[in-house]
Amino acid sequence: MTQAEHTSDKPLDFIRQIISEDLQSGKHSSIVTRFPPEPNGYLHIGHAKSICLNFGVAGEYGGQCHLRFDDTNPDKESSEYVEAIKADVRWLGFDWGEHLHYASDYFDQLHEFAVSLIKMGKAYVCHLNNEEMREYRGTLTEPGRESPYRNRSVEENLALFSDMKSGTLPEGACVLRAKIDMAAPNIIMRDPVLYRILHSHHHRSGDTWCIYPMYDFTHCLSDMLEEITHSLCTLEFENNRALYDWVLEALQTPNHPRQIEFARLNLNYTITSKRKLLQLVEENHVSGWDDPRMPTISGLRRRGYTPLSIRNFCAGIGVGKRDSLIDMGVLENAIREDLNQHAARVFGVLEPLKVVITNYPEGKEEELVAQNHPQNPDMGERMLPFSRELFIERTDFMENAPKKFFRLSIGREVRLRYAYLITCQEAIKDENGEVVELRCTYDPASRGGNAPDGRKVRGTIHWVEATHAVPAELRLYDRLFTVEAPDGDKERSFMEFINPDSLQKLENCLLEPSLAQAQADDRFQFERQGYFCLDQDSDPAGKLVFNRIVSLRDSWEKINPQ
Ligand code: ATP
Ligand code: MG
Repeated sequence: MTQAEHTSDKPLDFIRQIISEDLQSGKHSSIVTRFPPEPNGYLHIGHAKSICLNFGVAGEYGGQCHLRFDDTNPDKESSEYVEAIKADVRWLGFDWGEHLHYASDYFDQLHEFAVSLIKMGKAYVCHLNNEEMREYRGTLTEPGRESPYRNRSVEENLALFSDMKSGTLPEGACVLRAKIDMAAPNIIMRDPVLYRILHSHHHRSGDTWCIYPMYDFTHCLSDMLEEITHSLCTLEFENNRALYDWVLEALQTPNHPRQIEFARLNLNYTITSKRKLLQLVEENHVSGWDDPRMPTISGLRRRGYTPLSIRNFCAGIGVGKRDSLIDMGVLENAIREDLNQHAARVFGVLEPLKVVITNYPEGKEEELVAQNHPQNPDMGERMLPFSRELFIERTDFMENAPKKFFRLSIGREVRLRYAYLITCQEAIKDENGEVVELRCTYDPASRGGNAPDGRKVRGTIHWVEATHAVPAELRLYDRLFTVEAPDGDKERSFMEFINPDSLQKLENCLLEPSLAQAQADDRFQFERQGYFCLDQDSDPAGKLVFNRIVSLRDSWEKINPQ
């Protein structure tokens, strides 16, 4: 599976252009990319962009894409996250084949490389503490100062680095730094830290190591060891490229991958940062990483998004060099487009109001034919039971309705889809004056919903038969945040913008009987109400729970016209 079907009619993005040129010029005979997540949380929609890009180009150009865990921060990482990430990448439709790698597999080699740098006089052990180091680093406008430990002998550095590794030194006692240039205009090049002491248990290497390599040292060398040709990362690493190249040049490595930066995906009304998503989970603002409101891959999956819709979304937004904020509506349109073609149509009543058809024989029951997809007859038909007692949507009835209300009101006629024309005769109220039941009559000659005399009936509503209806809870979702850029406010935390009404549980819904057989991966269009899928909270023997994946139209746009 590739992205080709969606990108073929578009001009190549700048990354695909570079890759095409490198293949044409013979610089590479085949390409190797990698997706390098840190296993410190679940993947989100931003990662999907990177996954689709890395696996996508590898697929399109007959290359390989590796999955590599960048696992150098043992305190924040776990094998739970590793497994979740693997499942998410697979679910999106991508395959790393033999190429599952971990930076921690390279700890021995990385250590060797560090020793080589020391021997070349290009790295030294430094005892400045964090605060001092910050002070010595200088600023954008002022050069830094050299550490007093910078000119130690190679022997002394080797001995100290060995002490760091042996576990006798406490955390923070010292670090290994590259010896580059404290006056470099690019602050990253001012003797960056390569290794620090961490007395932490690692989920893969256990207690073997108490020094761990930093990202900038690990990443370029891991890419090199795997013979990655194009190392694609997001724009915030642009300044790190100089260090990426410095390390590989200093060590005279046999190959030198090319780092290319592209713009991150930002979506409005949500956040794409594992750290912040973790905070939502830990502080119970959501039910977990896979809460259907989360922008995580697992949340989107549980919500009912299809892998295809996410791949199409990523292909649609493209790859560029400028950061932008993509409208959540674009993601929602991607799933609508997919489901509009493929989801079976069914009836579900969200807020049921009882209807009694007074002239329908008591005890009689019949079955009426309904189409599963009016635009796609191949999807077949199903039978809907019909009898004297039904439920319709409470919002499809209105007392004293305005003229343009083409649904039910006393004396008005509507079409029950696939069934009959009915006319409302009377509304029964409870002691609070609330309508609890409608008494209607039907036209027996209108079976199937057609007026026998061709009279005009404008309104068509959905319904379920009372005795066969399946009770269900429906969960409707709204934006998780109330503002477009919840983490864009310097003064206020993103937590202050959590939408308190992002989840609405409708517990007394009634569905047509076929939905009792719904399976985990089925997705439906509840006519007039949106697309739904079964939630994992469903109890097959008990109550069914469905998630609304997305409404039928972009209702958000209607509320906030822009
Ligand atoms: P987060 O801030 O959410 O932890 P990260 O960049 O630290 O994100 P990593 O696990 O290091 O997360 O990311 C793995 C890959 O995914 C990296 O190559 C990174 O550039 C890419 N990536 C992360 N977030 C986005 C995003 N919003 N859009 C595109 N690519 C992203
Ligand atoms: Mg990261």
